[in-house]
Amino acid sequence: MENGSSSGDNKSSPKPIRCKAAVCRKAGEPLVMEEIMVAPPQAYEVRIRIICTALCHSDVTFWKLQVPPACFPRILGHEAIGIVESVGENVKEVVEGDTVLPTFMSDCGECVDCKSHKSNLCSKFPFKVSPWMPRYENSSRFTDLNGQTLFHFLNVSSFSEYTVLDVANVVKIDSSIPPSRACLLSCGISTGVGAAWETAKVKQGSTVVIFGLGSIGLAVAEGARLCGASRIIGVDINPAKFQVGKKFGVTEFVNSLTCENRRVSEVINEMTGGGADYCFECVGSSSLVEEAYAFCRKGWGKTITLGVDKPGSQICLNSSDVLHQGKILMGSLFGGLKAKTHIPLLLKRYLNNELELDKFVTHEIKFEDKGTSHWGHTNVTNQYSFINDNKRLSLKHLSPTQGPRRTTCWTESSLFLRSFKASSRGNKHEYYHLSKSLGWTKRRSKPLNDGRPLPASHQSEASII
Ligand SMILES: [Zn+2]
Ligand SMILES: [Zn+2]
Repeated sequence: MENGSSSGDNKSSPKPIRCKAAVCRKAGEPLVMEEIMVAPPQAYEVRIRIICTALCHSDVTFWKLQVPPACFPRILGHEAIGIVESVGENVKEVVEGDTVLPTFMSDCGECVDCKSHKSNLCSKFPFKVSPWMPRYENSSRFTDLNGQTLFHFLNVSSFSEYTVLDVANVVKIDSSIPPSRACLLSCGISTGVGAAWETAKVKQGSTVVIFGLGSIGLAVAEGARLCGASRIIGVDINPAKFQVGKKFGVTEFVNSLTCENRRVSEVINEMTGGGADYCFECVGSSSLVEEAYAFCRKGWGKTITLGVDKPGSQICLNSSDVLHQGKILMGSLFGGLKAKTHIPLLLKRYLNNELELDKFVTHEIKFEDKGTSHWGHTNVTNQYSFINDNKRLSLKHLSPTQGPRRTTCWTESSLFLRSFKASSRGNKHEYYHLSKSLGWTKRRSKPLNDGRPLPASHQSEASII
């Protein structure tokens, strides 16, 4: 790539950057690896070099979606970690070289909601799936080499070596955290853990039910485990998920397909002696929200909805039930987390070996354009992975076995390959981190939580230097 701003004496006026991106040109078609131009950051904006990006299910949804708010050509991706390359005017919060997590939820720090501890719903830049930069309507920082505008996605667009974000959408973090783990807190894992921790405020010793054990549901389990829940009941139609769920603290499992003629709510009511303290709907089905509401405990039960249903879907509740049962129904966007406040706290808990992020990562690939670079670990279900084949980056649905979770994609492969090593010695794995001087240094040794060896692909990195 070419970086016109690389000369140190030209920091005040960053130039356009030519770099690689995986562009979604048409709904459902493989992403095309191509060179694009990334404009300099405007006032209150930050241009970052993406180090590592993960694949979240919302990327898949908007990759397949054919109707608005879908639009093409677009650069998807919203779960990532990067290094600040340059900043626009009036940016005080971060400087060149800082390690940052992008977040799709804005945290402007100025509006009434951002100033309040009660909400994470910024009213200056309210959540929407816009193709533009949040602060400047009809304004993109991406063009292809023919000058055609490329649309943004969820304020992030991380399937690119460089991207531009509003300063309201970056969180400065400790650079010592392994990038492929930290990036998970950019969206999915924060959403699930935050729903238990911040939205529901799960109490020690309580009973939690989770509808849907995908990566968000498992992150809810992880959050509930951290909060000290004593029973975590997973509800899913795939029995293989229970084995996976156990690693995340799920203690019991209900297969909703084998409840015979009974509703799941009846089964849960019986199991819990009158309903669970907290119910999380992580599937994205309004009828399941109704079911979850039915099996939470009268008087104090909370139902938290995280899943995204079709636009216009309605939830139908009996008004007498609402009046007589005193239950709480809550929505949770990004787990109710205030990005700039809560993400550093979660990362601290990861460094303290409390929050377990390693177990969420099942695949790691390189963001490069030659040959087929997908590698397989087979313990994955209901998850899409990047398949990189001759400059076309497909999002492939992997064969169902066990465990959902995350594929992380390393960008800047040449830098990564030169400088990253991960070696396996028994259960110890050495992590290296990118220092502010852009050199990788050894950081620490840490056992993987479940004692599994690193994926073979990960180990092999050391030999490709
Ligand atoms: Zn996401
Ligand atoms: Zn705000």
